[in-house]
Amino acid sequence: MSNEANELIELLRDAREYTRFVGEMGVETVDEPSASVECASVKTEPSALFASNAPSSTSHPIENAAGSQPFSPAKAKAPLTTVSADSLFGDLAQPQPSFSPSAETLTDIWNDIGDCTRCGLCEGRTQVVNTHGNPKARLMFVGEAPGADEDAQGKPFVGRAGQLLTKMIEAMGMKREEVIIGNVNRCRPPGNRQPTLEEAAICRPFLFREIATIQPDVIVVMGNTALRNLLEAREGITRVRGKFQDFRGIKVMPTFHPAYLLRDPSKKRETWEDLKMVMEHLESVPENRTA
Ligand code: URA
Repeated sequence: MSNEANELIELLRDAREYTRFVGEMGVETVDEPSASVECASVKTEPSALFASNAPSSTSHPIENAAGSQPFSPAKAKAPLTTVSADSLFGDLAQPQPSFSPSAETLTDIWNDIGDCTRCGLCEGRTQVVNTHGNPKARLMFVGEAPGADEDAQGKPFVGRAGQLLTKMIEAMGMKREEVIIGNVNRCRPPGNRQPTLEEAAICRPFLFREIATIQPDVIVVMGNTALRNLLEAREGITRVRGKFQDFRGIKVMPTFHPAYLLRDPSKKRETWEDLKMVMEHLESVPENRTA
């Protein structure tokens, strides 16, 4: 088959995937690509058709804070983080060692969390909302903290934002049960406010221990809280999204939070570009784990 025919097939596949994604996510009209983008896509990269500012998929380390003392919540085992809340938006990145395989199970970690009272969020919550999904998932999603629905049901991302997340996962050709979904904080902050730096620093070591246990191939961090607690970026999600990052040897794709997409559906297009890069990466690395 000629290169042109291959490009055309690729282009049609992209168009079909994108239409399915925005359709499933409730967008009724899709902007026409601009003439210049259309021309560029024929000559160069078909997938540029839907990218308003086509992001690079190359690794691009961002500014991290590292190197200060670990935060030690009273009952937690030695946390894997090497930074404190104070240094969250501090100095430039220092390379951090890759996770070595962890001997503990998710259940060990959840037992350790127990009926947690390590921070003030315990006072307003109904229950602790632990990470949920396939413990052998290749793909993990990380959000901020439970909302009212999650607090009531005890599972992350079950409200409106969660329903959108499910559609995003399905648009990627996966089932929600195949992936694993967690949050930086496990207790609902009053009025759904953002967790404070201290609350996040107390809770995130548990997330890091879970990541060491799961060892996913890719983590999608959704929104600024997840971005800043995993990667400790100074830049916000709008600048960093769409560029693979590294978290202790694990690829991380920052993208918009589904709650933000509910407020601004025009950002679904960029989100789909980010998720497509995740899909491409997952396809490019051999699957070496049993479901
Ligand atoms: N938003 C989040 O960040 N996490 C949830 O679990 C639900 C909504």
